[in-house]
Amino acid sequence: MTSVTASRGIPRKFVGMNSTVKNDRIEWLQGPASDSSAKCSTVPVEHKNPWRLVLLGAPGVGKGTQAELLTQRLDACHLSTGDVFRAAGKRPDCDQSPAMKAALEYMRRGELVPDSTVWEMVRERSHCLVGCGGFILDGFPRTLGQAESLKELMEQESLSLSAVINYELPLDEIVQRLSGRRTCEKCKAVFNVKDRPPKVEGVCDHCGARLFQREDDRPEAITVRLEAYERSTAPLIEFYKNLGLLVSVVAKGSPDEILVRTTDQLEKLAVNT
Ligand code: AMP
Repeated sequence: MTSVTASRGIPRKFVGMNSTVKNDRIEWLQGPASDSSAKCSTVPVEHKNPWRLVLLGAPGVGKGTQAELLTQRLDACHLSTGDVFRAAGKRPDCDQSPAMKAALEYMRRGELVPDSTVWEMVRERSHCLVGCGGFILDGFPRTLGQAESLKELMEQESLSLSAVINYELPLDEIVQRLSGRRTCEKCKAVFNVKDRPPKVEGVCDHCGARLFQREDDRPEAITVRLEAYERSTAPLIEFYKNLGLLVSVVAKGSPDEILVRTTDQLEKLAVNT
């Protein structure tokens, strides 16, 4: 285990590459209303100066994969709003609120879910952001309204973001990654039929379960998602640049190469802040 000391004297933690500790994120995925007995299997211990990161970038740049890798390196929780919607979509119809049913329809079309629904969902899980050893937000915020709500919450709790990492990739590569993406229905490992194919077609290398194509990775939905990104999410780059939080990382290459680029940036940041 290594740590990087910021000038304010509080070490920020990096955990060895071979760490296997993994949070199952039950509290984030299920939320407080569904089953109050649901508890995460492992929660990062509270550090004095935990990492609180936002991952930005168009759909398909690999935010989810990086969030999973970073989670282990930084000992923080991976909080993905898309994963909350997908988990809700697997529950029986009668367990879904009207707002969640509507949200899932937006998602199927590749459109953004309205801010009010997304914020309600994040707000009721806010203990995952404020009472935890650190977090990596993936897919949230996605609009200026959501970014303002997050800023207010952080200010109310006297917390601040460590950085906002913006993953950059040319459009043609984004489309190739999205259309080729296949996800394991059990362990959620991500493959790509072109760049990172599984050893056996349609079967997960790690757990042997079936791989599926996300409904919103179909060509019609991809176009809608990329338009929504340009219109609503890209303006966040300027928003976070103005707050002095933006760090850009080129998202080309393998997940491990991108991870190294990311942690290099974070190490620099930790030393210079
Ligand atoms: P993701 O897995 O982050 O790509 O999210 C999948 C889909 O969930 C998006 O295309 C949206 O329909 C919906 N979604 C996830 N997060 C948000 C958000 N922060 N704001 C609006 N819609 C979201």
